[in-house]
Amino acid sequence: MSMVIDTHIHPALFAPICEDPARFRFRCDEMNYHLMSPVDLDLLKKQLALADIRGVFLLGEDCSYDKGQSAISNEEIARLVELEPGLFIGFASVDPRCPDAEETLRRAFTELKLAGLCLNTAKCRLYPYDERIFRLCEICREYKKPVVLHSGLCLERDAFSRYARPADFEELIAAFPQVNFCLTHVGWPWVQETAALLIKYPNAYANTALMNFDGPVQLYHKVFKEDMGEYWVEHNLADKLMFGSDSPRIRPVRAKRGLDALKLRPDVMEKLCRKNALRFLGREDQP
Ligand SMILES: [Zn+2]
Repeated sequence: MSMVIDTHIHPALFAPICEDPARFRFRCDEMNYHLMSPVDLDLLKKQLALADIRGVFLLGEDCSYDKGQSAISNEEIARLVELEPGLFIGFASVDPRCPDAEETLRRAFTELKLAGLCLNTAKCRLYPYDERIFRLCEICREYKKPVVLHSGLCLERDAFSRYARPADFEELIAAFPQVNFCLTHVGWPWVQETAALLIKYPNAYANTALMNFDGPVQLYHKVFKEDMGEYWVEHNLADKLMFGSDSPRIRPVRAKRGLDALKLRPDVMEKLCRKNALRFLGREDQP
């Protein structure tokens, strides 16, 4: 088995950023994580090793405009990356509604050295074609950074999926051909809309982070073999899909079992598990 990159982890429970109990409760409340407690980094690393995960996209979460604070701040993401620089790849988040959003993003790239931007339009209740989002992507183009877009249904509190329909991201993806975009959750339940964008736009990617219901093996089969044509992944989307778990809603090793059960060709698995993520990051030549 070759090494794997997990392109979708919310480090909400990572102990080094859970020291303040009030802040931890606020975060869990915002992200709809119930009955969960902080997890030590050593245990997390063991869980990742079970699926041979050697690289992790850590996604920040900032919808602070109406809540006064972000659920997972860019500083917290940067602190985690500093602890495990060989394992963690940090994604900044900014709330496009904040007047200082552009400044915050520039700072995340220059001072905090984060690898990309993550936006949750469902939670910020902004349509993907909002000009504030375009301005942030202009900064990503300038700094050559990829963008992770939460798409499809979002399980978080106060988040509405009409702001995250995959097809509504098309103008953004088309406007910045130099920027790589990842539609998360394959845009579930609108997976065919997502597939359409992946086929049309070279800079459009998606990750496999599916919802946690029905069991990963069943759900991966339903999405990638029934909702999509049986051979779409191997014939048309092999260069565009990236493995992602959406941990902590589902443990990475369980999500990986769903992907494994598709029994894709080894060269296609290699792309989904690692190569596509490296290209998405612009790190193709990295060993
Ligand atoms: Zn997620």
